[in-house]
Amino acid sequence: MDTAISTQQALREQHLVGKQVKGAKHLLEVEETSERGRGIFARENLSAGTTLLEERAYATVVDDKHLQSHCSLCFSPNARFRCSKCTLLHYCSQTCQRKDWTLHRSECACFRRIAPRRPPTAIRALCRLLWVRQKYPNSFDAINALQSHSLDYSKEKLETFAQMAALIRTIIGEESCLPPSEMIDLLCRFSCNSISVSDGELVNIGVGVFPVLSLVNHSCSPNAAIIFNGERATLRAIKNIQVDEEICQSYMEIAEPRYVRRKELKETYFFDCRCPLCLRYDQTADPRTTYNCVSSGCAGFIDLPDQLENATCSVHGRLSADLEAKLTDEVTKAFRLYRKAAEESDPDRALSTGLACLRLQSKLMHPANSEMIRTRRLVLDLLLSRQRWEEAYKVSHDLLDAYQALYEQHHPSISVQAYMTYKLAEWCHGDDIQLLCAKISEAVQLLLVSHGDGQALTKEAKQASENCIIRRGSLNTFG
Ligand SMILES: [Zn+2]
Ligand SMILES: [Zn+2]
Ligand SMILES: [Zn+2]
Ligand SMILES: [Zn+2]
Repeated sequence: MDTAISTQQALREQHLVGKQVKGAKHLLEVEETSERGRGIFARENLSAGTTLLEERAYATVVDDKHLQSHCSLCFSPNARFRCSKCTLLHYCSQTCQRKDWTLHRSECACFRRIAPRRPPTAIRALCRLLWVRQKYPNSFDAINALQSHSLDYSKEKLETFAQMAALIRTIIGEESCLPPSEMIDLLCRFSCNSISVSDGELVNIGVGVFPVLSLVNHSCSPNAAIIFNGERATLRAIKNIQVDEEICQSYMEIAEPRYVRRKELKETYFFDCRCPLCLRYDQTADPRTTYNCVSSGCAGFIDLPDQLENATCSVHGRLSADLEAKLTDEVTKAFRLYRKAAEESDPDRALSTGLACLRLQSKLMHPANSEMIRTRRLVLDLLLSRQRWEEAYKVSHDLLDAYQALYEQHHPSISVQAYMTYKLAEWCHGDDIQLLCAKISEAVQLLLVSHGDGQALTKEAKQASENCIIRRGSLNTFG
């Protein structure tokens, strides 16, 4: 209750509720909703491809995996300068390094003190939050205004948070920390409000806290998506949005089946998703959980939104116990193959197992079934690592088709997959200029809407498109 009151006060002080959203490029307002806390609403019609708002992080860190390759200030992928003192953080330029020094100074001293131990990503991010607070105390209202859900966390989770808080205290010292109970609250807030920072290809490279973007609620059928330009987050409309419609992004992978999404959303964000996709499932078959009928000669399909039970074929109705057992067996066999491929350390063996899994799944499942998407992603990575371009091109194409069956037309994942498919086409069908021009032009159109023309990946794709057009032109002239 106290938390709720202080949140309300902090919000009023920040003039958020009922007011134009900070950093918004259009008429957007924060509103209290009856079921989902605060949300952001459009107060004008907005078309797909519109930049809704931009926000710089309150604090960000590059994750452990990308710490040596990405700039700790601007997230650029060519970090050539290493902090010579702590040797942990890297920067793209001395300008970035100098700019970051105001915050990294305290951090650097702590990292050196605890070396060779390295604090993991989440701990570094929380330490950063506290250093920003120490340097700009008034700014911390924005963090205090975030939902904490402190009463919703399990006892085990709160114990983990207490251990993390103790670790942070040993790293940064008493004077930079909050009192113990406030530290737990901060960890609760971080856990349900932090946002992954990704590059143009949607690979996660870090984590940050963006107080305004945290107000955007979730939908499994979102009308907006966050795209990063370096460390700067942009919320973009990926559908046409009507006046007074709520603006929603997805907090998780929406290729997952309904029951997986709902479980994760409940466990991490404490709500039951009531988005159109979650409510509609019992009327329309969901490709994510659709299987082919195992009865010989039957062309029917079976949608199993929650589990492999009570399987009913769209053509011949309820499956006999024998057929149901056969379906379960085959699906389990395919799942075991996937696990074996994912855990195999030898890439050639992993690849052959992954391909065997795909062959089995393609007989059993809808091409946009979640399990098949997961296998295709694994197999595509393995094919790329083995430089088997032709097969990679085909799998990338299949993935693109599956995404188009599941996601909104302008979802960023579709644009990224379309661009990747073009690049693979260039490697294995480099002479087919008509094909290349068609593929790159499709990718550019998609990227312009989902990513915007300022995003590095869009710029790269536009350049590739121009080159394609020039090549086609010279072929027409001289060919
Ligand atoms: Zn930089
Ligand atoms: Zn350092
Ligand atoms: Zn949903
Ligand atoms: Zn059937």
